[in-house]
Formats: sequence, C-alpha cells, structure tokens
Amino acid sequence: MIGTGLVGSLLSVYLARRGYNVNVYDRRPDIRKMKVVQGKSINLALSDRGWRGLREAGIEDEVRKVALPMKGRMMHAVNGELTYQPYGRDDQAIYSVSRGLLNQELLHCASKYDNVHFHFQHRCLDLKVEEGEVIFRNEESGENISAKHDHIFGTDGAFSAVRARLSKIDRYNFSQEYLSHGYKELEIPPLPDGGHRLDPNCLHIWPRGEFMMIALPNPDGSFTCTLFIAFEGKHSFENLKTPEQVRQFFDEKFSDAVQWMPDLEKDFFANPNASLVMTKCYPWHFEDKVCILGDAAHAIVPFYGQGMNAGFEDCRILNELIEKNDDFSQVFPEFTRLRKPAGDAILELALRNYIEMRDKTADPQFLHQKKIEAWFSSKYPEKWIPLYSQVSFSHIPYHEALANGNRQQEIMNQVMSLPNIYSDWQNESIEHFILKLL
Ligand SMILES: Cc1cc2nc3c(=O)[nH]c(=O)nc-3n(C[C@H](O)[C@H](O)[C@H](O)COP(=O)(O)OP(=O)(O)OC[C@H]3O[C@@H](n4cnc5c(N)ncnc54)[C@H](O)[C@@H]3O)c2cc1C
Repeated sequence: MIGTGLVGSLLSVYLARRGYNVNVYDRRPDIRKMKVVQGKSINLALSDRGWRGLREAGIEDEVRKVALPMKGRMMHAVNGELTYQPYGRDDQAIYSVSRGLLNQELLHCASKYDNVHFHFQHRCLDLKVEEGEVIFRNEESGENISAKHDHIFGTDGAFSAVRARLSKIDRYNFSQEYLSHGYKELEIPPLPDGGHRLDPNCLHIWPRGEFMMIALPNPDGSFTCTLFIAFEGKHSFENLKTPEQVRQFFDEKFSDAVQWMPDLEKDFFANPNASLVMTKCYPWHFEDKVCILGDAAHAIVPFYGQGMNAGFEDCRILNELIEKNDDFSQVFPEFTRLRKPAGDAILELALRNYIEMRDKTADPQFLHQKKIEAWFSSKYPEKWIPLYSQVSFSHIPYHEALANGNRQQEIMNQVMSLPNIYSDWQNESIEHFILKLL
C-alpha cells in the first residue's frame, strides 16, 4: 500500500482482515505521533457511503465518537438573514469529522493487525510495474531502497506517484485540470464557555455568486471556515493582499461572520491559498500487479463533500470483489470497470454542486424547487429520491444518481413553470403532474 492517508489506511484494514500480509508505506512520518489538536484541524463531511465503508471494515463505532451530525444547510445572506434547508429526512445527517483525528483513528485500527507493517518516511519514487517492484527514498537516511510485492495499491492521493508511473504505459489515459478558484482555511473560535457561536448541527454557507464561504463545526466549539474564491479577477485572492483589503472584503461580504473571527487577518495570511485539482485516468489497474484507489484514481473538487466518501466506497467494493474471487487478475479489471464511471460521475456532480452552493442556495426559485421535491419525495419515497439524497444518503452508483438527477431536473423545469407554483404547490394536481411525467 503506497499512501497511509484516509483511503490507504482503511484499505489496509480490509486487506489485513482477509489475512494478507500488508506492507504500508508513506512519505510522511507517522501522524499518530504528531499532535492533532482535537477539533482544530481541517474537517470533512462524512456521509452514508463513507459510513458503510467503515462499517464493513468493522470500525464504524470508533469514528462515530468523534463525528458531529449536520442535518441541513444554513444559508447566511449578505444582510445576515438565515435560511435553513434540511439535507434529507429528519433522521438523516452528514457528519463533520476532523481529517487528522480520522486518519489517526484509521491507522490505529490498522495497527491492531499483526500482518500490517508500517514503513513511514518512505517516499515512492518509481515502480517497475511488470515486476511489482517499488523504489522508495528513505526520507530519514536519504537512501534509495527497492521492495518487491505481489500486488501494489496506489492510495497516494491526487498527485499520485503510482498513477504517474502507470501513465507512462502505452495508451494510458490521464488528464488533469485546475479550477480557477482556490480555497483558504479560516476559523471561528469557540465561545468563552466552549460553546458554538453558530448552530453546530448545520453546515453553514455564505453563498455570494462568484465565491462563497462555508463553516463546519468542531467538537471544541470552534468552526473551520473555508473561503472558496477565484485566484484572479475582481473578487479574488489577487485583490486580497493587505490586512485592510481582507477586513474590508469580509466586513462587506460576510458581515455576520466577521464579528466572530477575531484572528481573521492573522489566519488569512498564515494559511496558504490552496488550489483545487481534478484528475481523470483510465484504467485504474495494471494486470494483477497495480491498482489505484481514492484521490489517486479520481481527484475531484470538494463541493459535494464526496472525495473521501468515494474513496471509502472504492475500498468496500474492492473488498466485495475479493470476497467473490481472490484472483487479482480478474478483480482489478472488474474494479476499473465498476468504478471508473462512478469516479467520472462524482467529478461532474461535484463541479455542478459548486454552482449550486455558491449561487443557487441564495436563489428563492431553487429553494422552492427543493421544497417541492422534498414534499413529493415524502409522499412517494420509492418514486423520487432527491439527487442530494441519492449521493449522500444512498449507495446508488454515482453515475446512476447523475442520470436520475438529470431526468428529475427536466421534470422540475416543467413543474416550476406551472402557474401558481409558488402559492399552490402542495396540491393534488401538482402531484399528478409529476406522477405523469415519471
Ligand atoms: C478543501 C477540501 C475539502 C474536502 N472536503 C471533503 C468532504 O467534506 N468530504 C469528503 O468526502 N471529501 C472531502 N475532500 C476530499 C478528501 O480530502 C480526499 O478525497 C481524501 O483525502 C482522499 O484520500 P486519499 O487517501 O485518497 O488521499 P490523501 O488523503 O491525499 O492521502 C494520500 C497519502 O499518500 C501519501 N503520499 C503521497 N505521495 C506519496 C509518495 N510518493 N510516496 C509515499 N506516500 C505518498 C501522503 O503522504 C498521504 O498520506 C476535501 C478535499 C479538500 C481539498
């Protein structure tokens, strides 16, 4: 296993449970020995696909202890007005988890198995794919070493060295694109008594059209905020170069949040302007020797909160394939066949969700449409699962969810053009209209 991030550590648990001898390499030192201050690190939204990946590896309960439920989005308008939109049914939520704590917990679970062997500070430099040989640099000693293994899993993230080596194979497809927008982490600290300054059961969004800010709760009462904004242009990082510019911009655009951000300028200039990359590649394997999963196979933009969830789903599905047949010369091609369309679809969905989050969540027509969908879905749950729920609260393959969502949007375009749709939406004629179109 090359990479002990979120996906590599979970896959190590799956493979260890099957009795394989697993050697796990990472270029970083062991993050279990690093101090992750509870709640202060970057947090991620964990939803049903991720939970299932953890559950089937037998480690759901450990993660539940450090996860905070978020039942809906809270939109903050420029004038401070709040609008709440539930993500799903009353019993559904996505969960805020600290990336650092989750990774530590997953490594801890993997280390319980005697057949998992960790090699930290080993940077993968190259692979001889046919021979199953990997060349590493020991980051402590500076020495290069090589190791031969029966199968190699590349879980080394968006800039994967394993994928880079695969891309040298004849007719290997690979593409990479950066978004014109980047992101910056900021913080809303806790109240003096340790409480949260905003509702901790929501994901908070400040949608502003061309840019947006979001905030996810932490167990210590703080919120991790992320500003997504263009690198260049009128509202962009290039025009936020001085503390005065930053303060004025936040005063104008995020006036309710800024009062809770005492270290705004300090955080803004201490934290990097980070870029967002998307990659596509094909195939995700080489014979029975190499297989890539997680961001190494499908780096996506973070706007559906699905990158890690998709990676955990990769692990679960690979495990199911091995369960059926442990001949890796069949498992790896089947894995590519099943997962490549899903990877492409979640990339597309995540890109669309950026527009939805930064722009449409402030649009009354969009919010009304969502209300109608939720109402219809509560009456006919077997006929209509809203797209967000298909992605976040179901295990429908992402590419099927995308196709269903396109079909539903066509129907909703017709529904929204009906006369009196704002006043008379909860009546039988609307219900029958939708039923006829389904
Ligand atoms: C701002 C932001 C917000 C996000 N929010 C969410 C969210 O809410 N929900 C969600 O599901 N996803 C989210 N994601 C996506 C999520 O972070 C990734 O999908 C997830 O981390 C992928 O896990 P991974 O294990 O594949 O890669 P990584 O977590 O990147 O781990 C890769 C590992 O490989 C190691 N490595 C890299 N190169 C080498 C090498 N040459 N040799 C040895 N080791 C190497 C690294 O040190 C690292 O440990 C977000 C991403 C971003 C950027």
